[in-house]
Amino acid sequence: MSSEAHFEAHQLLGTPIRDLGLAIEGTELEPLVDEFRQELERAGITRLKPHMYLSDEWGVPFETIAIGIPFYLARADLTALHVERAGHVEGAGRPEFLHYLRHEMGHVVNYAYRLYELPDWVAQFGAMTQPYLEEYHPEPFSRRFVRHLPGWYAQKHPDEDWAETFAVWLTPGLDWRGEYGAFPAVLAKLEFCDMTMNALRSRDPIVVATERDDDVSQLEDSLAIHYEDDLEDEPLPPGLDGALRSIFEDATADDATQPVARLPAHGLILLMEPDLVANVFRWTGHFPDRTRRLLRHLAERARVLNQVYSVDHQIATTVAVTTLVTALAMNHVHRGTYLS
Ligand SMILES: [Zn+2]
Repeated sequence: MSSEAHFEAHQLLGTPIRDLGLAIEGTELEPLVDEFRQELERAGITRLKPHMYLSDEWGVPFETIAIGIPFYLARADLTALHVERAGHVEGAGRPEFLHYLRHEMGHVVNYAYRLYELPDWVAQFGAMTQPYLEEYHPEPFSRRFVRHLPGWYAQKHPDEDWAETFAVWLTPGLDWRGEYGAFPAVLAKLEFCDMTMNALRSRDPIVVATERDDDVSQLEDSLAIHYEDDLEDEPLPPGLDGALRSIFEDATADDATQPVARLPAHGLILLMEPDLVANVFRWTGHFPDRTRRLLRHLAERARVLNQVYSVDHQIATTVAVTTLVTALAMNHVHRGTYLS
């Protein structure tokens, strides 16, 4: 990086988010939002028009019809910074952006028509008054929930279960009756959603509030502060050197004369980080920031142990690291800790 680029990066990090001049209008988000509005019309949702704004994360404030979109999606450099700092990005690129909007629209419909007060809704999804736990413990591949966002998100709370079900129902061209034909509990939720949405076509929403929560114009923190590591200091699992040793080899003095090139183990682990973090979250529900912290710990141990791998074993080594990390992540999802 040139000193000029360094200066610019430094300036960017020090600027309060609200002063970055971010907006949906005029950015590549604008045509996507328009496309989504057309999708809603085609689905028969014409009386409920969600309000969209930039915020610090995806979300719909309770009892509003306002969808908060992460500010970092409005500019490519901010998206890249988010990937670097948070290790995981939600909703970047057209298909993913629409994927998240469909989910958030589920909350909008729920709040706009106060569906959560209907006994039939409660019977399908549960009570809205259930505690909303950030740390939920999903059962991967449960036959009782749709699959839409990564991390088995429908299992988090009844409101999320509805939002995920709605998102599946809304997805253009998705044959949800075929997709979930073998899962009666899911099909019942989807049929309920279908019936409800048909009934709501001709009804105006009860709630039309658009109060925003953490609108981008109110985000006083600089990016540097926004991305400060806020993981609590959970101790990293000790005693994994043996696991690493079963995957990697120790570097030897005659490495330069080996017939097949050998590369540093920590480099491979760090190279795997973005994809592994995202896939572990998708399939186990283990949070990206935790997986990233675990991977960096493993990479550091491999570096200290001076471990290497043969380039002609790269696929086997990648599979081994992936499986090790997935097993640890599953432990954490079930028990709250990597090691029992
Ligand atoms: Zn949600």
